[in-house]
Amino acid sequence: MTTPTLLATSIVHVRTPLGEQVRAAAAGGADLVELRVDCLGDVEAAAELLRQPRRLPLIVTIRVREEGGQWDGDEERRRALFARLGRLRPDYLDVEYARWVAAPRLRRTLQRLCAAGGERPGGARGDGALATPTAAAPAGAPRLILSHHDLRGTPADPQAALRPLLDAPADVLKVVCTAREATQAAQLLSWLHHHAGSRPLAVMALGPAGLPTRVLAPKCGAFLTFAALEPGAEAAPGQPTLHELCAVYRWREVRPTTRVYGVVGWPVAHSRGPHAHNAAMRHAGIDGVYLPWAVAPAEDAFVAFMEALRAHPRLDVRGLSVTLPHKEHAWRWLRANGRSVTSAAQRAGAVNTLTRDDDGGWSGDNTDVAGVHFALHTLGRDELKRLPCAAALVLGAGGAARAAVLALHELGCRVTVCNRTAARAAALAHELRCAWRPWTERAAAPAALVVNATSVGMYPDVDESPLPAQALRPGQIIFDAVYNPPQTRLVREAQQRGCRVLLGEALFIGQAARQFELWHGREAPVDAMRAAAWEAAARRPPAPDAG
Ligand code: NAP
Repeated sequence: MTTPTLLATSIVHVRTPLGEQVRAAAAGGADLVELRVDCLGDVEAAAELLRQPRRLPLIVTIRVREEGGQWDGDEERRRALFARLGRLRPDYLDVEYARWVAAPRLRRTLQRLCAAGGERPGGARGDGALATPTAAAPAGAPRLILSHHDLRGTPADPQAALRPLLDAPADVLKVVCTAREATQAAQLLSWLHHHAGSRPLAVMALGPAGLPTRVLAPKCGAFLTFAALEPGAEAAPGQPTLHELCAVYRWREVRPTTRVYGVVGWPVAHSRGPHAHNAAMRHAGIDGVYLPWAVAPAEDAFVAFMEALRAHPRLDVRGLSVTLPHKEHAWRWLRANGRSVTSAAQRAGAVNTLTRDDDGGWSGDNTDVAGVHFALHTLGRDELKRLPCAAALVLGAGGAARAAVLALHELGCRVTVCNRTAARAAALAHELRCAWRPWTERAAAPAALVVNATSVGMYPDVDESPLPAQALRPGQIIFDAVYNPPQTRLVREAQQRGCRVLLGEALFIGQAARQFELWHGREAPVDAMRAAAWEAAARRPPAPDAG
């Protein structure tokens, strides 16, 4: 039987009384609390908390600056502080492995503390209940966490570079690297998966790209992972909050059998995909989790990421949404590997969905045309009836514009394309057999329906609109593909002028729902997806976002 992974949160300030923060941590789902004494600036408050009955087990950490902490004082003072707080019997003491090796006095002090048993202040869970499988320490003695932090990056070959750490004489070995992108997170997860059976391990990657190492810790057998108590209280860059981990990523439900999905792009940190897909899987009772995978823009980076997944099949990544700038990379990668691209992707000229097939290979699909149909079908029946033979204007000539032209053709509209770069409009019109006009004529083109498939109005240029307000007519249907922010300037002005408005959110949900169907073989719970995506938008201000 595998031991469930523990969720820790760090206390890094004394603005709120420490006891209150521990109560909030317990209420937020933490199993244990790390007292970051190097950050607190109030040793007495930490000592007082250690004397109190324990609501949650406590880790005492006094982290040195070169390993990501704020302690840059004298090592002898740090040793004395460890000795003082260690005598109050925290459940764990955390010290850097490099210092353990290099500082014999510090090492002997920690050895003595960890060998000295005795009573710990009483409490429901502070009594050794979280003993590690290897714990040889006497009851009541703190257990030793030896940690290693690489603040510069992740070794190119973690299997070889991190191997010596496995000999560290600790109850728990904690390895923290810095991930510039998702491939490094995947490699660290592979290392964790490989060694988690042999000893209690906590392996994490710092930075936003490291999020998968925290979410998938229970899948890969980690002893422990960390999340922040609240926004702004992160003890390390890229830490999600307890709420985010438990509510958005369903962390408590992630287990070794959990299938993994996600979105590959750059940037992806603010994607609403995780909200929509995780809510949908929860609603449908599917044992899966969907994550942002931040893969650097170069094609090589995309290929390296897919190779990392191939090298680590136990990670069990089953499906990926592909967003900018990797749609073409995905197409070429599939072709180079002799894999298939569906007719929907061929028509759309882009791959926005990858699905792992039963043979372990991948196939490529496109769900944007289905997304446009989904959005248009939120119009009432009467408005839909007006579309065949209606004049439709599509602004833009990229992937979204292409999907819009295809869907509008299928509905029988007469489509005209306008794009800033005329040559792209002409090429798209030629290929998809529709009309085109120069960008300067966009306001004059008569249209019952206008689709904005440019990025004009998207964060951060939220004060821009692709059409002057005077060009909008009452009764016109204005469909803005931009969904960040949800209400663009074009949408606001269209509403003011009596237009019928369709939001980019509907396109987003439509294409995500189709992905859900492709991956899970059942109808998508679109209401749950929409509610989760809206809630995410309401919680967060607009931000750089590719999907
Ligand atoms: P893309 O392939 O990069 O195309 C961008 C388009 O925007 C091009 O036609 C470009 O014109 C035009 N454009 C950019 N800046 C402009 C400016 N200042 N003035 C006029 N035109 C400008 O991107 P895409 O994938 O088609 O996406 C386009 C938009 O749709 C984005 O905002 C994206 O977020 C949104 N989208 C939303 C969803 C959804 O689920 N709601 C799905 C896909 C896309 P040039 O050819 O002249 O460069």
